Amino acid sequence: MTVLVRFAPSPTGLLHVGNARTAIVNYLFAKKHRGQFMLRIDDTDQTRSKPEFEAAIREDLAWLGAHFDLYDNQLARLANYGVAFEKLQASGLLYPCYESAEELERKRALQLARRKPPVYDRAALKLTKEERHAIEARGLKPHWRFKLSQSKVAWRDLIRGDIEIDTATLSDPVLVREDGAFLYTLPSVVDDIDYKVTHVIRGEDHVTNTAVQIEIFRALGAAEPSFAHHPLLMGAGGEALSKRIGSLSLRSLREDGIEPLALASYLAKVGTSDPVELKPSLEVLAAEFEFAKIGRAPAHFDPAELTNLNTKLLHSLAFDAVAPRLAALGIGGGEAFWEAVKPNLARLSDAADLWALVNGAVAPVIENATLTAAAAALLPPEPWDETIWASWTKAVSAATGAKGRELYHPLRLALTGLDHGPELKKLLPLIGRAKALARLKGDTA
Ligand code: GLU
Repeated sequence: MTVLVRFAPSPTGLLHVGNARTAIVNYLFAKKHRGQFMLRIDDTDQTRSKPEFEAAIREDLAWLGAHFDLYDNQLARLANYGVAFEKLQASGLLYPCYESAEELERKRALQLARRKPPVYDRAALKLTKEERHAIEARGLKPHWRFKLSQSKVAWRDLIRGDIEIDTATLSDPVLVREDGAFLYTLPSVVDDIDYKVTHVIRGEDHVTNTAVQIEIFRALGAAEPSFAHHPLLMGAGGEALSKRIGSLSLRSLREDGIEPLALASYLAKVGTSDPVELKPSLEVLAAEFEFAKIGRAPAHFDPAELTNLNTKLLHSLAFDAVAPRLAALGIGGGEAFWEAVKPNLARLSDAADLWALVNGAVAPVIENATLTAAAAALLPPEPWDETIWASWTKAVSAATGAKGRELYHPLRLALTGLDHGPELKKLLPLIGRAKALARLKGDTA
């Protein structure tokens, strides 16, 4: 069996870390089994779906490295859903309903008040043909419900183990609205059948849907795929991520300088029995992927842990891997600059501030004018390399008697205007003699 999984977002917003985790889990499982990863766009809700969100989803997945092998979108497949609809109708498994949203809400409120489960009462199933015609003669259009078997549906979930749901506890799901639009439930099953999806991997908010969908698979004469429902990723305080989508969208993390592999490592490991640590590639993450490692409790998104992985990643990057991005940020200095500053970066864009220390006009801070004047006089002629710092500061120490912090602190403040930063033995040759001399004399350069 060739594994085929799908990530099926609705294009109604930007991907956040929670959706991205579902995408990564699907992707890694597919890669581990040399299978295929499909992007399916669930865009049957035409009022909320937007092409710009689909474009953003594609861009975000590409950035993350979760490249898909197959693609489809549901709006292009309406005819297939129509065929499935007719098949279910012919089997007597669909029935028209005419209750308005308000009416349904009233029924629900009444059931809840009587401490009864708010399950649809199947009133419409009891309508006679004449009653239906009379209602339709008033101009009302039906929505269509699927008649659940009201029996126990069981499956072995690859993450949650054995699950059994009695569909008698559920409302018959609406498959088609009064305006003729298909809701998500049926199209998803039809697509999974037509594409021969082998594993449906999604958040545990879909567990109940699965019982319903298994009945629909069977009603359409198809075997259901395997299912794996992962616990949801929550905010640090246990809140749903959708509430904080702004800062946790892939978009904003990326703009914030998070590297895709740091995020992929984080999302692949959070909520699992493996330690949350940086991995060198998606291939390694795929090789290590196991459903059995995914815990049953909700995972909590910890931005500090992600930043930590990001920092580690930056510190491990070779110049060649970042050269085009440094150039795009207007940063020069080649490999020497990258090696000098990378231990000080939490995000790549921090390199721009450090480049200003080399290239920009730095306003020096003169803490000990006698010392910096002596240091200026002792600056050796160029060419400079990394050994200059040691020989020069030794000479300054001999001339002034300053040692340790007394020596280094005023030099750093004069040369960079800051009291912390990259190693000066690496930075000084990049700053160069002319700028170093001016700064030691207190001139902005
Ligand atoms: N569009 C659905 C969602 O985003 C897909 C669920 C599924 O994977 O079947 O929740």
